Amino acid sequence: MLTGMHVAVIGGDARQLEIIKMLIEQDAKITLIGFEQLDHAFTGAAKEKVTDADFSDMDAIILPVAGTNNEGQVDTIFSNEKVVLTEELLKQTPEHCTIYSGISNPYLDKMTAGAKRNLVKLFSRDDVAIYNSIPTVEGTIMMAIQHTDFTIHGSNVIILGLGRVGMSVARAFASLGAKVKVGARKSEHIARITEMGLTPFHLDDFDSVVKDVDICINTIPALIVKASIISKMPSHTLIIDIASKPGGTDFRYAEKRGIKALLAPSLPGIVAPKTAGQILAGVLSQLLEQDLKNRKG
Ligand code: NAP
Repeated sequence: MLTGMHVAVIGGDARQLEIIKMLIEQDAKITLIGFEQLDHAFTGAAKEKVTDADFSDMDAIILPVAGTNNEGQVDTIFSNEKVVLTEELLKQTPEHCTIYSGISNPYLDKMTAGAKRNLVKLFSRDDVAIYNSIPTVEGTIMMAIQHTDFTIHGSNVIILGLGRVGMSVARAFASLGAKVKVGARKSEHIARITEMGLTPFHLDDFDSVVKDVDICINTIPALIVKASIISKMPSHTLIIDIASKPGGTDFRYAEKRGIKALLAPSLPGIVAPKTAGQILAGVLSQLLEQDLKNRKG
């Protein structure tokens, strides 16, 4: 239980609603900033403007998955208010106040370090990233279906990267009957791809496997689908880039060649916000409870 703990939820999308439900069930004191257009009235959760909120007794601040942008602005789909988080605001919180975000950026890193507050990046955790790969895979399948006129079954699919998302994507497309090749750079990844019954290739040999690719799915957050590789793909190839912005594809060249290349961020929030929110709520519940226990000694 989080009785006696004051948690501020600042901005976000439908995923945050599951987090707010969890906080209510756990009896936390809740301040909602950037939610004034949310119709649902959460009993016991106070809606405030960032300029009016009292930061001095906040034990934890929960930001959206993206955290802030590089000017400190927080995305608020339930508000027209511009919510900007600053180092000065964070300095008003108690020293033990922890900031939870999905990912970070130089602004958020600098602001939390400057205010000497602990920043927890939930998506750096293996458990969150692996659970989150489940709705990500479903979103990728949805995009493949929407943007092709052929079945996934029987298609030549290339997946780049065998991280937490790449592995889930590779397994799912193989189960749907695609002929899956997976590109990686580590020999242990090549071994794992082989063990999974899929066809491995080293990323150095990427250009030699694309001549019959139907769908190319990138999970590597670095420029990997370069112009020289796109130039060897058949013109009907669909590229789905799910790596974090700006992706790992030369989108300019793909467009010039007439190859459809889509950057597909935030798939869990689009295809399954409830599940994606529940994943975050489950982990946050454990972390906040641990925080409270540590403070009580
Ligand atoms: P991860 O576990 O860290 O895996 C990243 C993979 O990329 C690893 O196989 C890694 O290989 C490889 N890699 C990284 N840099 C590389 C480089 N310069 N050259 C070659 N390979 C490189 O990450 P993840 O959790 O799978 O997430 C992958 C990406 O998807 C991230 O950008 C994440 O933000 C994004 N994501 C997007 C969505 C969405 O909805 N679109 C959802 C979840 C995650 P090594 O081990 O060899 O470094």
